[in-house]
Amino acid sequence: MTRVAENYTKVQVIGDPVQDMMDCVDKVSLWDIDSHPSVLLNVEPSRQDELLVEIRCDDMRRLQPVFCVVKSKLSDVLADGYLGDMWERIPQVLDRLALLHFSPHPESLDLIAWYCWPRSYFHVHPVWSAEYQKGYSYPLLDCLLGGEAELALSRAVDHHLLVPGKLIDRLRLCRVCHGSRINFVDVCPECNSIDIHLKPGVHCFICGYVDDQDVFMQSGIMQCPKCSTRLRHIGVDYDRPLERYSCLSCYARFIEAPVKARCHDCGEIQSPDDLTVSPVHEFTLGKLARQIALEGSHMLHLPLTWGAPLTVDHLPWLMQWVSSNQRRYGGDNTMMMIWLSNLAEVKISLGLTKAQERITELVKRMQKLFRETDVVCQYSDDVLILLLSHTSDKVWEVLRNRISTLGDVEGLEQLKLIVEVKALPVPEDQIAEDWLKAWLAEVVHYE
Ligand SMILES: [Zn+2]
Ligand SMILES: [Zn+2]
Ligand SMILES: [Zn+2]
Repeated sequence: MTRVAENYTKVQVIGDPVQDMMDCVDKVSLWDIDSHPSVLLNVEPSRQDELLVEIRCDDMRRLQPVFCVVKSKLSDVLADGYLGDMWERIPQVLDRLALLHFSPHPESLDLIAWYCWPRSYFHVHPVWSAEYQKGYSYPLLDCLLGGEAELALSRAVDHHLLVPGKLIDRLRLCRVCHGSRINFVDVCPECNSIDIHLKPGVHCFICGYVDDQDVFMQSGIMQCPKCSTRLRHIGVDYDRPLERYSCLSCYARFIEAPVKARCHDCGEIQSPDDLTVSPVHEFTLGKLARQIALEGSHMLHLPLTWGAPLTVDHLPWLMQWVSSNQRRYGGDNTMMMIWLSNLAEVKISLGLTKAQERITELVKRMQKLFRETDVVCQYSDDVLILLLSHTSDKVWEVLRNRISTLGDVEGLEQLKLIVEVKALPVPEDQIAEDWLKAWLAEVVHYE
């Protein structure tokens, strides 16, 4: 701890010296985090954004405290604050970074937890830019996780690692490509032409003729072009039709012009009601962050010692192979899915280490129910998928009941096991991976 305490004041400056901080370098790669765990950026705003992105993308430096002298577009979302907050925030971040339990191959959620838990003031803010196809992006997650950012965000919310905070905006996105660059244009309801005009019309009471007001105006007086009656008083000689619009393409008159939304990215034309409504939130720290930060990874590794353990990548291939065989030679094969539906809550209430121990115990008991020839795959943290060969879906009922009684491991009373089965083969016109994903989507849904 003494070493950490000494380090509170060791701040490297990137750019020109600030006050009495004279340890200056001009590149991120020259910042030595062992001698100077924190950094202060004193550069012009556009360069500052480049440096912030570089630091948060850098495996070695991304978690360190970073402060700025001036504000820039990304400083609120990628830095830890400004000169005024620096001396107060550095000790708490460094103290907590020192407590982190690092696991060697961090997964996206682990990285998010390591970054955000040490920062009590932490928020993930969205930033709007015309460059982003969806309008908003979360630069911090983009830096930490690259291409996995979007998927990781929804998983982080499912697992109570991040909690939606303030609502920042509500977007309407293209239903096809989810782009946010959309043009709204009103069209003729008869012929879909965009060449329409808002024009006052006139309805002659004498002969019933209806047309644009221009047509009735002759040398400054209003006269019906059909019956030549002079129209003096609204309500007596004429009135205004409700059809305020007219189409210059098909000459139809109409009351309301329907609006079409055309996506600039993919060209899809859709009704505004068909656009996908997408709220944009900022996010704050959820309960799981502390568990991951102090205990390492959030992934539970189940000791799948029975049967033939299989990786996720090989599962669809095997399903396809079994299905082709079954179509040719007959027989019964069944897929079983076991979903630990509230694992996230169990992890939070027990802590990761205890949850891991007890689930290991549960898996051991499960082992007795299956055979050497059954294939088992830990599809994700909370989903197990089994391929039960030579088993019809008629006998699964028995298995399911046995599995549900396994939950009586001490401390796991609150764990909910959802068990579903589906008979193979995969229909001939489908590929196994899609079939599996559709089934997962049907069964696994987080509240
Ligand atoms: Zn008339
Ligand atoms: Zn028209
Ligand atoms: Zn589109």
